[in-house]
Amino acid sequence: MNILVINCGSSSLKYQLINSESEDVLAKGLCERIGIDGRLVYQKAGCDKEFKEAAMPTHKQAIELVITALTNDKTGAIKELSEIDAVGHRLVHGGEKFASSVVITPEVIAAVEECCELAPLHNPANLIGVAACKEVMPDVPMVGVFDTAFHQTMPKKAYLYGLPYEYYEKYKVRRYGFHGTSHSFVSKRTAEYLGMDYNNSKIIVAHLGNGASISAVLNGKCIDTSMGLTPLEGLVMGTRSGDIDPAIMEFIAKKENLDIDGVMNVLNKKSGVQGLSRLSSDFRDLEAGMNDGNELAENAIEVFSYRVAKYIGAYTAALNGVDAIAFTAGIGENGPIVRKKVMEYLGYLGVAADDEKNSVHGDEAVISTPDSKVKVCVIPTNEELAIARETVALIR
Ligand code: ADP
Repeated sequence: MNILVINCGSSSLKYQLINSESEDVLAKGLCERIGIDGRLVYQKAGCDKEFKEAAMPTHKQAIELVITALTNDKTGAIKELSEIDAVGHRLVHGGEKFASSVVITPEVIAAVEECCELAPLHNPANLIGVAACKEVMPDVPMVGVFDTAFHQTMPKKAYLYGLPYEYYEKYKVRRYGFHGTSHSFVSKRTAEYLGMDYNNSKIIVAHLGNGASISAVLNGKCIDTSMGLTPLEGLVMGTRSGDIDPAIMEFIAKKENLDIDGVMNVLNKKSGVQGLSRLSSDFRDLEAGMNDGNELAENAIEVFSYRVAKYIGAYTAALNGVDAIAFTAGIGENGPIVRKKVMEYLGYLGVAADDEKNSVHGDEAVISTPDSKVKVCVIPTNEELAIARETVALIR
């Protein structure tokens, strides 16, 4: 089957066409500046990227351009629209309504709409993508895969905040967690890769990208994760603060004469390693800065790595032990420096780093020594493939 995987934002739309039997990506790309002017990036497997400026006033036109590119005589990956068997949509927030992926129906759309206030930047954009596909491909089945679903197995003690209970009852203020598709994919693959029984395992996944989160997975089920009501909680990230003393918000608001939106903007966009280093949110720049003797860049890497190690300690307690730790996403897959710093904190668990193996970039690898009590590995994430697999499983 050919599955079109869509990740739709307010002005952009990422897509991949995946053959579910071979799990090969047949073509992939991106529509940018939807509603502004419009640019299509298209790449058939094994070919160069193509760029096309093309008017896309709405997401419907963007999808139409994607289909035209996919079925193009010369560079198309398929001959006609009917070769797309299903569409898998990344949906960000499923609230407490969705603990797994679903076939998209009008009832599902209504339920996802109800979750919009929990993810006002993401869910409405995701639903626009669903509506656009429905218009262009009315008869093709569609599946929604939620970022929050994998974390719905967290127990109450992990998801409740120490706030008046009525906020949970009235407004569903609780911890939800994000990157669930990645945590699910990577934890499962870690067990497989290490020859462990997933249903009898204690795995910690560190998804370290621009957005970063950690999860504790017990016997294949998430029991805790570092992001909360929103993706702002937890680790120090590219530009997000992660955990802070909430009283800092009032303190900074008064000192800097900011309203709540101003403070939230600082916490989401001007903090994290970007704010700490005054240099960049990108670890390649921070590592270069550190090597040039930039003290703030070094601080940022230290703060980031220390927070990751603290969460691993906390989740080892939550799991009552740990069999394996997996690093994934941009920094997790490509950042030997951060991985080494984190592993150095974990000597008390019997973790021992293998420096040669830890030099890996983007490939699966065990990066702990053979006698390390806890196996540490790099497992590249693949959220699009995970969405394609879920889609096939549901429409079969
Ligand atoms: P997201 O999907 O959250 O935007 P990614 O998972 O793509 O993020 O990760 C992006 C980050 O990965 C970059 O900001 C950069 O910090 C880091 N990264 C990518 N490549 C490298 C590398 N070779 N060395 C160190 N860090 C890297």
